[in-house]
Amino acid sequence: MKCKICNGILKEVINLDKQALANKYPKNKLEIKKEKKFLLKVLFCINCRTAKLNKIISRKLMFENYFYLSSVNEGLVDHFKKLSHKLKNRKFVIDIGSNDGILLKPLKKLKVNSLGVDPSKNVGDIANKKGLKTLIGFFNLKLVKKILKKFNKPDTIVASSVMTHSNNPKEFMNNIKKLLENNGTFILEIEYLLNILRKTQYERFYFDRPYYYSIRSIDLLANAVGMSLIHVENIRVHGGSLRFIIKNVKNANKTKQCKKLLNLENKILNFKYFENFNLKISQESKKLVNNLIKFKNEKKKVIAYGAPARLSTITNFAKINNNLIEFIIDDNPLKQNRYSPGQNIFIRSKKSINFKKIDIVIVFAYEYFKYLKKNIKVKKIKFFKPIPFKKL
Ligand SMILES: [Zn+2]
Repeated sequence: MKCKICNGILKEVINLDKQALANKYPKNKLEIKKEKKFLLKVLFCINCRTAKLNKIISRKLMFENYFYLSSVNEGLVDHFKKLSHKLKNRKFVIDIGSNDGILLKPLKKLKVNSLGVDPSKNVGDIANKKGLKTLIGFFNLKLVKKILKKFNKPDTIVASSVMTHSNNPKEFMNNIKKLLENNGTFILEIEYLLNILRKTQYERFYFDRPYYYSIRSIDLLANAVGMSLIHVENIRVHGGSLRFIIKNVKNANKTKQCKKLLNLENKILNFKYFENFNLKISQESKKLVNNLIKFKNEKKKVIAYGAPARLSTITNFAKINNNLIEFIIDDNPLKQNRYSPGQNIFIRSKKSINFKKIDIVIVFAYEYFKYLKKNIKVKKIKFFKPIPFKKL
């Protein structure tokens, strides 16, 4: 298979076995029966240092009814509040993948003219009801034309954790170029492939996201459409992402930091790095399963906390079902009383549980651990992070 970004050759580097769609939670036995599973492999192009999944699932199937609400995540709310302050002098900001208005809300407070775009009707409706203007639709050429008919060109476009969901990165970048004012700024936030590998986060690979980028991938993509990557910085969201600053102008200079990070990446992100990653993920998955079996033999009652997409990837790869984890608690009401994708472990609300009967909680939503610990006051309960397996 050829790389869509640079025409180089894609080679298989990771095999995560059969996986269900990570953000689809079956409601009942019939939906479980109809659930589809696909072989999930990761391919890599060494020339532009981009990873891509072997199979692309229809975006329509994936995003029309979505279960993820950004504003449920306190860390993210804070992240976008800080970003809004950096944008307080901008004329017009468009947020692509605006979800429930997590950036639009603080921008509105600062009186910055802004507009959101999101493909999920149920989520976009939530934003519109709060008075955070959101166009519902996929970010494509048709939508760009629609925006340009009604509005001026924005001087700033933000796309946070959205480009990984696109199955055509070149077209995505081209549409940004068409929409953005000359010399305007595109702020792109995405998970960094090198960080995913560094932290053994194989659960970050799932069908919602066909592409995984490096700094070089973004540099080449920006150049290909006549824009320039000028700066890159580390941000904390989603376990280590990068923020790219791209200018709508040709051949602009890069910052020192941008050059330095590009150099570093060039030295380490190669096939050997994936080999080590594969070794680590099979060891870590075995460790998790062996511990769950040990708990079961000790007659411990084991449950999980949180049903994010990573729970799906991990439980499907390591073949963990309700024989080893009795049920899952999740605070998102859209997921409750449904089943986890693929291994079909039942998801319940916190209210419905007598914590005195629980011995072990495997915390899949580990970013909320502090909050969870505050809420559960049963002393004997032990908490563990699944990958890498460790006591919390
Ligand atoms: Zn390539």
